[in-house]
Amino acid sequence: MKPADAWVDPSRPKDRALVTHGHADHARGGHGEVWATPETLAIMDARYGEQRGVEVRYGETVRIGEVDVSFIPAGHVLGSAQILIEHKRERVVVSGDYKRREDPTCPPFVVTPCDIFISEATFGLPVFRHPDTGSEIDRLLHRLRAEPGRCVLVGAYALGKAQRVIMELRRRAYDEPIYIHGALERLCRLYEELGVPLGELRLATGVPKAELADKIIICPPGALNDRWSRRLPDPITAMASGWMRIRQRARQRNVELPLIISDHADWDELTRTIREVAPKEVWITHGREDALVHWCQLHQIKARELNLVGYEDEDD
Ligand SMILES: [Zn+2]
Ligand SMILES: [Zn+2]
Repeated sequence: MKPADAWVDPSRPKDRALVTHGHADHARGGHGEVWATPETLAIMDARYGEQRGVEVRYGETVRIGEVDVSFIPAGHVLGSAQILIEHKRERVVVSGDYKRREDPTCPPFVVTPCDIFISEATFGLPVFRHPDTGSEIDRLLHRLRAEPGRCVLVGAYALGKAQRVIMELRRRAYDEPIYIHGALERLCRLYEELGVPLGELRLATGVPKAELADKIIICPPGALNDRWSRRLPDPITAMASGWMRIRQRARQRNVELPLIISDHADWDELTRTIREVAPKEVWITHGREDALVHWCQLHQIKARELNLVGYEDEDD
C-alpha cells in the first residue's frame, strides 16, 4: 500500500504491518510496528513475544499517511478483521480469512461495500459445502456416548478451531470437564481472558487413563497420531477441519471421525459474500482461484487472481 508506506499481512518483516489476524501465515514476528485489533495483538504477544503494537478497535478509523484505515469483523477467529483502506475515494477491502456462519468465539463478518474486494478462496470449489456446525458436534457427542470406555480425541488448530469446538460443545449443554493438550493451554487461557468462557478445562498430560474414559480430549492436529496419544484409553480419533470433506485427507491422518468444521467460507459463503459486497472488482488470493474467477465472470463481476506467496491455509 504505497500512499501509506504500510503492508497488510506481510510475509517478511516490515517497518509497519497491518495484520488481519493471528494465524501464522498472516501474522509474523519481527515487524517494526504492528497495527491490529487488541485481540490480535494479544495473540501475537503470546506467540512471538511483545510487539510494538498499535491497537485499532473494530469500527475505528485511523489515518496512516494519505489513507484512512478501518478494521471490520471478519468472523474467522477471535480478533480477526477485514481491513478497509480508503484513498482518494477508492475503497479497498482486504478480507484476510473469513467465514459467514456463526462462531460463538468472535463477532460475525460485516459486509462492507467497496470498489475492490480482496477475497480468500481456500474452499473455492463448488464441492466444498460445509454442513451445519451443530450437526457435526452432535455426531461427536453421539459417538462418545455410543462407545463407553473409549475417549474421543479431536485434532483442532490451536488458534480458533480448538476454542470454537469447546464453545460449540458447551452450547450443546456438554458440561463435563474437557481435557486439552498442553500446546493449547496458553491460547485457551488467553481466549478466556479476552472474554470467551470455555468452561472447565483440564490438562490431559499426566492424568490416569481411567479418568479419561468417556471424555473429550482436544489436541493440535500434529499430536493425533504421535506418542502422546498412545497413553489415552482407546481413542476415537476425530479431526475438526474443512478439509475433512475430502476422505483421502481423513484417511491420511487415520481419522475415524471426520468433523467438517471450518473457519473459512465454503463455496456458497464465498459467492454470497461477493454478491453482497458487490464490488467493482474482486481479487482472489490463496486457494483455488480459477473456479471463483470463472464464477465472477459468469456473473459479470471483474475478477483476477492475486498470486501471493507464503499463505498456506494451515489454519483449518
Ligand atoms: Zn486464518
Ligand atoms: Zn489464511
